[in-house]
Amino acid sequence: MLAIPGFVDPHTHIPFYGERSEEFALRAAGKSYVEILKSGGGIYSTVKKVRGVSIDALVIENTKYLEWMLKSGVTSLECKSGYGLDFKNELKQLRAIKKLSEKVPQTLISTFLGAHAVPPKGEKAYFTELIDMMKVIKSESLAEFVDVFCDEGAFSVESSFELLKLAKNMGFKIRAHAEELSSNGFASKAAELGAVSVDHIIKIKDEEISTLKKYGTIALLMPTTSFYLKTAYAPARKLIDNGVPVALGSDFNPGSNTFYSPLFVSHLAVNHLGMTPTEALTAQTLNAACVLGIENEVGTIETGKNADIVILDAPRLEYISYMPTNEIVKAVFKNGKLVTANE
Ligand SMILES: [Zn+2]
Repeated sequence: MLAIPGFVDPHTHIPFYGERSEEFALRAAGKSYVEILKSGGGIYSTVKKVRGVSIDALVIENTKYLEWMLKSGVTSLECKSGYGLDFKNELKQLRAIKKLSEKVPQTLISTFLGAHAVPPKGEKAYFTELIDMMKVIKSESLAEFVDVFCDEGAFSVESSFELLKLAKNMGFKIRAHAEELSSNGFASKAAELGAVSVDHIIKIKDEEISTLKKYGTIALLMPTTSFYLKTAYAPARKLIDNGVPVALGSDFNPGSNTFYSPLFVSHLAVNHLGMTPTEALTAQTLNAACVLGIENEVGTIETGKNADIVILDAPRLEYISYMPTNEIVKAVFKNGKLVTANE
């Protein structure tokens, strides 16, 4: 058996509601994004479903996903809004995260991603609403982070920069979905602004890598999404070799990736990102904890930290990425207490 620190997933889109398997099958059959949108798919189909349910329904549905994650060894994770896209429903999602954190054994860190997509009212009108939301979120301590989706078809570089700047001044920690679809330079802009992490960065330009290193920004990579969407993988090796700290997450969400297991993330990191099994484990535990600001409590097994420990039926570390099935997770301890066991 192998004892490792509990996995930390620093990037998920929990809580969401409903599923998009029809869209998945259409995309696999070669349908374009526009055709999928016309048939009722895309992010707005999840927004519609989230808007249509109560906070309690959101909590029940997402408790299930958190149980699945616990069984795969995830003891701390990030949750975020972003499927409400209006005042009432963004706050509903954040309040659901608060309720979930009282219900499940895991540590949940909350992020406000109101700027996940531009609603029909347009970027300018919505920007004002986002600021109003941030004031309430801050006063009720509903989120630690503010995140923005800065890319083609999402928020512009200018608005994203302004929003994160305002968020930082309001006392939020900041992070960004950056350069997943296009090279717009936002990863280095967010780094200069003090973002804790820049997430995805598949299309990051070589010259931006030194900026990330300079500011100590963590590159948060999610090979599951590349695998799911059959797109390119982030330049993990180049980032590590240039001294940029790398963390790994799942990006678990109903549209662009439904893989949540850290064991599978480890497999993809080793097999497709060129990371060593040791680098992958560090990226999924200590470095991931650094993204969420909980590195003094979790992320390693050592005196003074919480005993978040996963017992694996594995003869050696390399086995995690080699045999990425939940069946090897034999026991999960949160704070020294056994929370799930697989006989
Ligand atoms: Zn994401």
